[in-house]
Amino acid sequence: MTSVPATSALPSVGFVGWRGMVGSVLMQRLQDEGDFARINPVFFSTSAAGGAPPSFAAGTGVLQDAYDVETLATLPIIVTAQGGDYTAEVHPRLRAAGWTGLWLDAASTLRMEQDSIIVLDPVNRSVIDAGLARGVRDFIGGNCTVSCMLMGLGGLFRSGLVEWGTSMTYQAASGGGARHMRELLTQFGALHGSVSGNLDDPASAILDIDRAVLAAQRDPGLDATQFGVPLAGSVIPWIDADLGNGQSKEEWKAGAETNKILGTDTRIPFDGLCVRVGAMRSHSQALTLKLTQDLPVSEIEGIIAADNEWVRVVPNTKAATVTGLTPIAATGSLEIPVGRIRKLEPGPEYISAFTVGDQLLWGAAEPLRRMLLIATGNL
Ligand code: NAP
Repeated sequence: MTSVPATSALPSVGFVGWRGMVGSVLMQRLQDEGDFARINPVFFSTSAAGGAPPSFAAGTGVLQDAYDVETLATLPIIVTAQGGDYTAEVHPRLRAAGWTGLWLDAASTLRMEQDSIIVLDPVNRSVIDAGLARGVRDFIGGNCTVSCMLMGLGGLFRSGLVEWGTSMTYQAASGGGARHMRELLTQFGALHGSVSGNLDDPASAILDIDRAVLAAQRDPGLDATQFGVPLAGSVIPWIDADLGNGQSKEEWKAGAETNKILGTDTRIPFDGLCVRVGAMRSHSQALTLKLTQDLPVSEIEGIIAADNEWVRVVPNTKAATVTGLTPIAATGSLEIPVGRIRKLEPGPEYISAFTVGDQLLWGAAEPLRRMLLIATGNL
């Protein structure tokens, strides 16, 4: 066991996975909100134990070994964004060693465990408080598309207005992590490089450009290590594991986690297709909802807008949609725009909606940051 460095009256919080995609955004949010002043942070690493702590946390001692259960067990709170394999390996060992601290996690591994709570406090703060009161110790961030969807459309769900729903997603490369974003950009660069001469020549034939790009996309030498197949200039209509019943694990999460977060007594059927697209950051999704009532669109918009301080209804016009309802507009912001709200042809209870959210903020880092504040009595 390595002794944990700093001692102060503040609660000690161990951070694992702080340099990954989710972890980096979490660190940024903690800095932006001055939250490090409320805790005594201890940084861990799976790959560089003994190395220097992150530059923003000078003086917190060297990086601890993220697999050292004895050291981890000295902490009352551990926050991890390291990933599911890490959780599967370390969490059971910690609990088996008798550790009773709070485990806050971005990975999906423990989300559907009976003893865990999926955290999204603007939607389920009462579930979180009741869980803390009865001794729940595992608080897990939800799936990114589910959390962003509920931050946008939670008002309709929580008013009991949704009979069922489908969500067709357009998920960004960043959902896979830091290395996936790099791969997408490298692929875009390779595709551009294969035709840059032709692009510079306004007289070149578009079919020649098209053929050259396709050849580059199909070239086995194009690096597709992370996604498995090329993403640049294409889409991949499957995310996460194959459950063997025609459904992807990402699609299964939509229904399972939506109902768990909401704490529904009667399950709301919710299903759809999850698709990876070549957006850098921020997941989009197109929804069809069957409402329990025929309400005017203005009333539906009012219920959505009133649900929390981050949702923003985008008027269903071309100009407002193309400027305000895109990944480029949503990235880096805690706002969750919801638009394209209109009645659909099958009947007056059927509505469409389109929502975008920075899945690294409300879809990952922000619920964990806020859970840390709740756990330390700061929210
Ligand atoms: P990630 O970017 O791949 O980071 C995970 C770990 O990979 C890092 O902590 C780091 O560990 C290691 N790593 C290796 N090479 C790296 C590099 N070049 N740059 C940065 N880190 C590198 O994964 P993530 O997207 O943050 O996801 C973490 C967990 O959150 C996963 O369980 C994921 O399913 C979940 N999640 C992700 C999202 C999302 O939108 N990305 C949303 C919700 C939940 P060491 O420092 O110890 O080496």
